[in-house]
Amino acid sequence: MKIDYYEILGVTKTADDKVLKSAYRKLAMQFHPDKNPGDAEAERKFIELGEAYDVLKDPQKRAAYDRYGHAAFENGGGGGGFGGGFGGAGGFSDIFEDIFGEMMGGGRQRRSGGRERGADLRYNMEVSLEEAFTGKTAQIRVPSSITCDECTGSGAKPGTQPVTCATCGGAGRVRASQGFFSVERACPTCNGRGQTIPDPCTKCSGTGHVSQERSLSVNIPAGIEDGTRIRLSGEGEAGTRGGPSGDLYIFISIKPHEFFQRDGADLYCKVPISMTTAALGGQFEVTTLDGTQTRVKIPEGTQNGKQFRLKAKGMPVLRQGNLGDLYIQVAIETPQNLNKRQRELLQEFEEISSKENSPQSTGFFARMKDFFEGIKD
Ligand SMILES: [Zn+2]
Ligand SMILES: [Zn+2]
Repeated sequence: MKIDYYEILGVTKTADDKVLKSAYRKLAMQFHPDKNPGDAEAERKFIELGEAYDVLKDPQKRAAYDRYGHAAFENGGGGGGFGGGFGGAGGFSDIFEDIFGEMMGGGRQRRSGGRERGADLRYNMEVSLEEAFTGKTAQIRVPSSITCDECTGSGAKPGTQPVTCATCGGAGRVRASQGFFSVERACPTCNGRGQTIPDPCTKCSGTGHVSQERSLSVNIPAGIEDGTRIRLSGEGEAGTRGGPSGDLYIFISIKPHEFFQRDGADLYCKVPISMTTAALGGQFEVTTLDGTQTRVKIPEGTQNGKQFRLKAKGMPVLRQGNLGDLYIQVAIETPQNLNKRQRELLQEFEEISSKENSPQSTGFFARMKDFFEGIKD
């Protein structure tokens, strides 16, 4: 089985030359045989990387690969590459040639068979903060194809048989010219099956499989973070001609919460309190994500923006079970829409106030002026 070249390099299908080059450089350094003496797996990976980069760095080879997959480079010639049209087995990626020299010469492996790995699928899932707190098992529906029960996968109408393909004589593959080189690819008449179906099954139109939504359960662990990617191996699109299935990736995004902001395992909550509560002291109760009420005591003379920590009332730490903290930040609300009596009381309060009641604002402008005049001297 051959792995997708883009996957080998860990890049997307839209990666540009720069991204390709840096991905290749990084991985080739990591798996270089000099750094992994005697490690056959590392050597195999290293060869694979060279092969993948060799194809993707070349716009023509890349285009052929995007179109035909690995079939574009299969000619049974044992590493001749591209029907002999391109450089041959020695055409190892140039950015390493000067460093690695001849080391990799002739080490390529190419296998035929025309099997293709199915595409990876992406599924976007939104999770509430409460769900991220408790964790959950989500049921999702993904499109997939299953064997047609009408024709048991043969694609031929029950009672009829597929016949040998006239175009490829049953080989399933034909050679085709692509500009100045030629590639072997799946026979367009029979799509590589080697057989055609004169009387196709009506249920599956001769494909042998029908699409059906599949239900999967996905475990969302407690403490999951925004942007997490969950990989369900082999749950992507089915491969062709017996090739392996792709993977399914669940992309998690956490919905913004009305009251809590999250920073890792800690939660933040802004609580408006009245000016009098801040001045005289008081208390209030907040509901935390576990659904319980927690009392927060406000000492007298509390200033705006002051934070109070509620230990272990935050989010669970992924796969550890311990909890972060909840920080309550108070925002003091200045009284508005005063009536006459309230205005009188506040004016009276102001009249009998002293420096000690507001040490920060008292003399602030005088201190500021002094500071800048001090700099001038
Ligand atoms: Zn069928
Ligand atoms: Zn054919």
